[in-house]
Amino acid sequence: MTNNNSEKQLQEIYDICSRLYTDMCGNKRTDHAVLFSYLTELGKSLVGADRASFWKWDTYSHKLWTTSATGTDRIVIPDNTGLVGKALAKQCVVITNDPYNDPDFNSDVDKKTGYVTKSILVMPIADVNGDFIGALQVINKEGGFDKERDIRCLSLAAIVCGITLESETFLENSHHDKLTRLKNRMGFHSDYAKIYSKLLEQGKPVSMFICDIDKFKRINDTYGHNVGDAVLAFNAGILSEACSDGECVYRWGGEEFIMMMPGTTLEKCAEKAEIIRKTIMSTPCDTGSKTISYTVSFGCRQLDPALSIVDNISKADEHLYTAKSNGRNMVIW
Ligand code: GH3
Ligand code: MG
Ligand code: MG
Repeated sequence: MTNNNSEKQLQEIYDICSRLYTDMCGNKRTDHAVLFSYLTELGKSLVGADRASFWKWDTYSHKLWTTSATGTDRIVIPDNTGLVGKALAKQCVVITNDPYNDPDFNSDVDKKTGYVTKSILVMPIADVNGDFIGALQVINKEGGFDKERDIRCLSLAAIVCGITLESETFLENSHHDKLTRLKNRMGFHSDYAKIYSKLLEQGKPVSMFICDIDKFKRINDTYGHNVGDAVLAFNAGILSEACSDGECVYRWGGEEFIMMMPGTTLEKCAEKAEIIRKTIMSTPCDTGSKTISYTVSFGCRQLDPALSIVDNISKADEHLYTAKSNGRNMVIW
């Protein structure tokens, strides 16, 4: 490579890294897909390839998927297919400079897009425990890939992709509840700091309700814990479906949920809670073995910007407590 080319490549790498830094530390919500596309571009530039993609391995559903392949949106494929699947199964780097004669090469994307793949390098990526979690793939390098040199060049991007994917997965898991798939208390506080507190600072109304399933213990005691779990997931579904743009529902604790409503006044919040209350009351949960009718009590609150979030939630909780002591299945505001 000439000095001119090296300098150009170095500048390209600096450009990608500075955009990455600005996005991650720019005091705004980072779009993870954009972040991964920068890292993928970094890999592409480091080896001088024409295309690159970063694959996440979902070992739970046996899928490989990417949001950061050059030229396409999201691709999802079974994890036992293609050269990425092979690199992850064998846990080693896979290179081919003659893909059409490689039985493991999946030519579906080429057939669909008309692109001609001439060479591929796939680097599987592990987390800090050494468990494989994804793979970086680069395609079409002038003259083909050179095993030693290109693995060496790509290792920086591979490591950063791995660390980023690991921390993204960890963050996602710690902010979500496995049973209902809703955001949990950690997710709530993160959103509060990033979204709701900012709206309050701007003088915009933000309302919320906290709701709690009535006599839920009895459902567990009568039908068993699995049926109780099914009712929780079902209730989460009803609340999620009721969310309009910008609204979000969280699993606050056991059978308690919070819905946040930016741009909504207390009266509108209570109206919405009342609609949801009626929907729940008239929609029994079919668990397969049993059909369970249940009700929910609600406490509403328009957030007071002068109070902390903890104090605001306590006020909503007081209303919920009133709903419980006045007979349940009601909205108090
Ligand atoms: P109230 O109308 O006053 O709210 O009565 P309740 O029975 O709903 O309230 P209580 O606080 O006595 O019981 C809540 C129960 O929720 C107790 C707990 O075992 C159950 N619970 C909490 N988390 C889960 C869960 O993830 N799955 C299941 N199945 N039950 C849970
Ligand atoms: Mg309850
Ligand atoms: Mg409760």
